[in-house]
Amino acid sequence: MAFSTEPKTPSKKVADPTRPSTILRTREELDAFDVTSEGWQRTLQRRYKTHEDMKGILNYVEDVDMALYDHFNMRVTPYLAQLMDRDNPNCPIRKQYMPFQRELNVRPYEVVDSLAEDDDMQDGSTVVHRYPNRALLLVTTNCGTYCRYCTRKRLVSHAEDAINRQKLEKGFCYLESHLEIDDCLLSGGDPLLLNDRQLEDILSQIRTRAPHVKFLRIGSRLPVQLPTRITPELCAIIERYEVQMINVQVNHSKEITPLFAERIRMLRKTGTMIGNQSVLLKGVNDNVATLRDLCMDLVSCGIRPYYCYSCDVAEGNHDYQLTLGRILKLYHALRGFISGPAVPTFVIDGTGGLGKMPIIPEYVRELANGEIWATNFKGQVQRMINLETKTVDQL
Ligand code: SF4
Repeated sequence: MAFSTEPKTPSKKVADPTRPSTILRTREELDAFDVTSEGWQRTLQRRYKTHEDMKGILNYVEDVDMALYDHFNMRVTPYLAQLMDRDNPNCPIRKQYMPFQRELNVRPYEVVDSLAEDDDMQDGSTVVHRYPNRALLLVTTNCGTYCRYCTRKRLVSHAEDAINRQKLEKGFCYLESHLEIDDCLLSGGDPLLLNDRQLEDILSQIRTRAPHVKFLRIGSRLPVQLPTRITPELCAIIERYEVQMINVQVNHSKEITPLFAERIRMLRKTGTMIGNQSVLLKGVNDNVATLRDLCMDLVSCGIRPYYCYSCDVAEGNHDYQLTLGRILKLYHALRGFISGPAVPTFVIDGTGGLGKMPIIPEYVRELANGEIWATNFKGQVQRMINLETKTVDQL
């Protein structure tokens, strides 16, 4: 089955011959590149846009039909390209970002909008209001690098940002008039892809017009894809508008570089909490050792492993998906072998808009006779005192 959506952009990519290319074409050029030597916006201009662009810096690049980019574009920052193993197509960074032909083989159970966000999108705005007190405000449809398993590939990766001032204004009005919303998450696309002025404007509108929002959060993958986005100027904005939490998405320890850790330290000084929401991805992080290292490396740089999502059933995602049984086994194997605060909550984001559902192995069981048995991480069981069936005398 092919993609069910119409192509978003024409497949023919015409280069402007008058514009000097900023792409680092050879591995030597790429290896010599110092990402801290220039501003983050300049580095964004150096992103790789097709698999052909990557052939000068990586070996064994899969040839894909250019029509694939009509549905979901490719962008890779040179910083991420530096982290990619030149000779190993199974490198965990390559697996997340390099396009592959099988993406076009959509399975019957895969859907365009697997979380049914469009159903909960408020008229004319980009506010998704699903939970009573929480709202998601989509602020851009662009990202620094496109993750091949993205849930929102129906929305993101357009050449132009599809979210304009008018839609944002409707979103601010919605937040302003819904006093029950005390938790607002900025997402997209990637909110940190907006420049400082645009981001500050959005935060200022929310803080001024919706003072009932007590918990203001930003979800962004840019700190992982291009850590130089975290600048003193950005930190000043985060502090000024009291953004209480920033959620990043690190899926493998290879993404926790010294530069990433340094910029996360800078961000933590603003007082914001930093959480991580990983996605469980076959071939990237679907084994206990990798997940254990990831969780411990996250806490070691001050990031709380918060959620571990099963990969959503968006179109073209089948190669990344794990069975529920496998996810339960991974969770069970993590618990007890790493510190409690380092264990994320494993969740499925229910299809059709059911929201997050925790995936938890059964540690406590009640038998038909009312006895309760609990199990520890080694599988040892113990009969518990059932306080509800005890009389005062018995206690
Ligand atoms: S950064 Fe987020 S929204 Fe953007 S492509 Fe990756 S998963 Fe999708």
